[in-house]
Parts: sequence; structure tokens; C-alpha cells
Amino acid sequence: MEPTDDMTANLERKGVKPTANRILVLKALAQAARPMSMADLQDKLPTMDKSSIFRVLTLFLEHDIVHSFEDGRGVLNYELCTSEGVCNHSDTHIHFYCESCQRSFCMEDIPLPDLSLAEGFTPHSFSFVVKGECPECRKKHG
Ligand SMILES: [Zn+2]
Ligand SMILES: [Zn+2]
Ligand SMILES: [Zn+2]
Repeated sequence: MEPTDDMTANLERKGVKPTANRILVLKALAQAARPMSMADLQDKLPTMDKSSIFRVLTLFLEHDIVHSFEDGRGVLNYELCTSEGVCNHSDTHIHFYCESCQRSFCMEDIPLPDLSLAEGFTPHSFSFVVKGECPECRKKHG
């Protein structure tokens, strides 16, 4: 995906000024089509140093441009928020973590487990990670 007007518009809609670095990070996340860890982003963005990437991600989290969750290793992964306007986290979904290739996958079509929390507990976010082996690794291992 090219850094289109769409991306610039998306940043502006969420109250973030579209700078070159911000567009680079946004583009990397959009191209990946799956959640990325800090290490994945550093691989994809060799021209940016770690602290610059981190600053952009922090800002993106504050403005709900990305969501983060811990993968099966406890490492934070980042993915683009799919809500256009105010995010009510209706785009929360289950993630699958492959223990062989250490990649995370979005399982957007699987219904979330029904959470009946004890009275007085208000959830702000959910994180569901299923660990196992992805189809690619399964094929390799027979
Ligand atoms: Zn969101
Ligand atoms: Zn795998
Ligand atoms: Zn996801």
C-alpha cells in the first residue's frame, strides 16, 4: 500500500499530524497485514531508530491509531485500529500465536468468549491469545 491520502486523512481524523516518520510506521503496519512487534518494525524500518519508532507507537496508542496486545511470549504486538471514528474496541478480536515461527495472527471472524465478570468490574480491554502452530509451520513439520 502506498502512503496515500487515505493514510494522511486517517491520522488527521484521529488528531495526529501526519509527519514522515508517522506515515512510515503506519505504512509498515498496513503492509504487514498482521500484528507486528517492535523487532518486526525495526526490521521493516531500517532508516528509523528504535526510540523514534517507539515515540510514534506511543502517540498512535494514545490516539487509538493502533492497538497493542501481548503475544504468546509476553512481547507487545501492534496492529492498526480498524475503527474509523471513536474506538469502542468493538474491533477487539482473538489472536493466534505460533510458537514455531513466533508470529501473531488476527482471528477476526471468531466470536469472543462471553465474559460474565463479577459485579463491579468494568472491562476496558480484552486480550485473548491462543498459542499453537500456524498452517505454514504445520506443513513444514509434517
Ligand atoms: Zn481502536
Ligand atoms: Zn508458524
Ligand atoms: Zn489482530
